[in-house]
Amino acid sequence: MLIFADKVRRLERVRLALKKRYGDAPPVAVAHPVEHVLRAILSEEATSRQADDALDRLRRHFVDWNDLRVSRPREIREVLGTNFPRSSHKARVIPRLLDQVFKQYNSMVWDFLEKMGKVETRAFFEKLEDVRPFVAAIIARDCVGAHAVPVDYDVARVLGRLAVLDPSTQSEAEMQAILERAVKATRAYEVHWLAKRLGEDLCIVGTPLCRQCPLNSFCPSAAIPSRTRANKKKAAAKPSKPAAKKKPKAAARKKRR
Ligand code: SF4
Repeated sequence: MLIFADKVRRLERVRLALKKRYGDAPPVAVAHPVEHVLRAILSEEATSRQADDALDRLRRHFVDWNDLRVSRPREIREVLGTNFPRSSHKARVIPRLLDQVFKQYNSMVWDFLEKMGKVETRAFFEKLEDVRPFVAAIIARDCVGAHAVPVDYDVARVLGRLAVLDPSTQSEAEMQAILERAVKATRAYEVHWLAKRLGEDLCIVGTPLCRQCPLNSFCPSAAIPSRTRANKKKAAAKPSKPAAKKKPKAAARKKRR
């Protein structure tokens, strides 16, 4: 079992390998606090493309975010599409969250965030019903600059397979606390983005595509044939020896005579 310091080292190894593969994290795609929340909820178990397209469909279908707030989950689910990942759950949570904030601040602009501190903002959203800790963490990180590493199902799955987190025994809030201790504030967004990127590309829901994964040489869950794995380890451990020189056949015969 890994101790905390080992996990920090593994996480850094993961970050470097994924950065090499996927490059720098792009800037956050949206600016308005409500859109941060919507995108965070939509992106769980969906690719970035699916989440952006779904957000676009919501923008086009509803008059404004207040219209979305008062809409029925059924209509929202239809706009998201029945094939959209966890569409029923997301269609229920979105208006519920918007409505709870509206009832407290009578606003869909959410300018109240300007006066709230980092800790206060996170605590406010964590207390709302049906709002998971990762949503509160995203608002705190992207809207008021708090140090937060959101852990949704994707991040939990990826870092769980890598044995940095243990989703079977740790709660979402506990996993976030571990990562916030392990990752510097300046790298929080990058680590989260890279884990999500791997989760949508290779470490997918169901059977992960470990053969193509840049982390498969040290991932404890890598599902690749043991022979390939052993060969990889051997190659990494031993510097290759120069091949022994063969005596030319003619010279060998001469010697025997
Ligand atoms: S090796 Fe497989 S299980 Fe491990 S992180 Fe990569 S895709 Fe996921």
